[in-house]
Amino acid sequence: MTETIDAPAAVKPINHWIAGGSKAGTSGRTGPVFNPATGKQTGVVDFASVEEIDQAVKAAKRAFPAWRALSLARRAELFFAIRELVHERREEIAKILTSEHGKVLSDAMGEVTRGLEVIEFCCGLPNLLKGGMTEQASTGVDVYSIRQPLGVVTGITPFNFPAMVPMWMWAPALACGNTFVLKPSEKDPSASVYTAELLKEAGVPDGVFNVVHGDKVAVDALLEHPDIAAVSFVGSTPIARYVYETATRKGKRCQALGGAKNHMIVLPDADIDMAADAAVSAGYGSAGERCMAVSMIVAVGGVADPLVDAIKQRIPAVKVGDGMDASSEMGPLITREHRDKVAGYIDDGGGTVVVDGRETCPDEGFFLGATLIDDLKPGMRAYDDEIFGPVLGITRVGSYDEAIELVNENPYGNGTAIFTRDGGVARQFQMDVQAGMVGVNVPIPVPVAYYSFGGWKSSLFGDRHIYGPEGIDFYTRTKVVTERWPDPATSKVDLGFPQTR
Ligand code: NAD
Repeated sequence: MTETIDAPAAVKPINHWIAGGSKAGTSGRTGPVFNPATGKQTGVVDFASVEEIDQAVKAAKRAFPAWRALSLARRAELFFAIRELVHERREEIAKILTSEHGKVLSDAMGEVTRGLEVIEFCCGLPNLLKGGMTEQASTGVDVYSIRQPLGVVTGITPFNFPAMVPMWMWAPALACGNTFVLKPSEKDPSASVYTAELLKEAGVPDGVFNVVHGDKVAVDALLEHPDIAAVSFVGSTPIARYVYETATRKGKRCQALGGAKNHMIVLPDADIDMAADAAVSAGYGSAGERCMAVSMIVAVGGVADPLVDAIKQRIPAVKVGDGMDASSEMGPLITREHRDKVAGYIDDGGGTVVVDGRETCPDEGFFLGATLIDDLKPGMRAYDDEIFGPVLGITRVGSYDEAIELVNENPYGNGTAIFTRDGGVARQFQMDVQAGMVGVNVPIPVPVAYYSFGGWKSSLFGDRHIYGPEGIDFYTRTKVVTERWPDPATSKVDLGFPQTR
């Protein structure tokens, strides 16, 4: 995968983007990019060397002083231009996502729309970057705080949201006056290069936004680089932990979002149809390749049998197929290896297989149909692992207390949801549950752009959630200025420690 491959003649080269232009890789290392719906290779992506990473960081460093000094009025104007262009080209972006990731076009459009909301939030950057001011803190002395950018920052992103997750990072980073080096997933890198072209077209100066492709070599070079001030990472938990530990050891600010195992609790008083619709939508949407996908249903008491029946009845209607076909509702998985790994849980994951997705999917490409496994328990592989595919598990418990214990004992704490008609229990749940994002009768509680996104426990390493107000905090540091002006009335020699007067 990380070696030079003999690519078929028709495959598209996917190059780096450094200092405002496309740069062909020179390392001699590349990776294949596939259309997961056909299983055919469509691209070959350059893998950056340490020297190429250095070139990108240097380009961002050169661009920083002018970008940082640009007035907020002008920077906001550029953000409105970016917003317009991304909005205008949203279908082109969605098609790129579908062709390399495999998600269906309507889902890809949803991804672009949610990313666009983060860009729209950033259009208010003059307001977001406002500091505070205290007049007459001491006699003749005023104090004010200001937010300043960090410098060159980097974003390292996963395959499952090739446009939106980078937007979570570059939009607030640039809005705050930083310059950026993006290292997208090597599995579906074209959306990032297209984004670079759009930013240039919108008028963003060369070097402010750079894209370097690659694997561990590229990531390590970014983590080691002395001119990188901060690292945003989204990906699996083992790599998130590694990135956080390495970056912080090097003195960098870091937010590293990891994997998930999201539980949806269904109480006996829940609306069964609503819960079943939510379970199927949130379990199988994007073929389960979402960090906020529901992967475990916790059925409490007598709700289990009717709920499993209701989910089972809905599964045959889920149309699996090429994401470019408007009638498809669920596309393929990202690679053949990942598809086979996910399918492996059907035979060896534990529990009782209710619906086997291997029986209902196209032969070509990396498809797996919707799968339902009942009677899972902690200690079974299909319960413990983040499967990241269209495999929905059911666990049966006797009470709300048992259900919340399961959620709170799980090592992940990204999202969770409760389905009930009882407002009191729902309120207790949001107080007790150990997770960063909570839904009440909402299965995928991804926060809107003016809140921030992030989990607890092994789903996030770092102190700041991503985008929204915490994103602005992450990409700025504050400075407090204490000032006074010559005033004959208050001026005198005083060698004592300054005290408030
Ligand atoms: P991944 O961890 O394999 O890769 C993420 C990034 O890390 C990629 O850019 C990749 O090139 C790089 N990388 C991979 N191996 C590395 C290594 N050994 N050293 C350094 N860098 C390395 O994740 P993925 O498979 O692309 O994405 C799926 C994962 O991302 C799932 O676990 C999912 O839950 C998680 N995810 C989390 C969130 C969140 O917000 N918490 C959002 C989306 C995805």
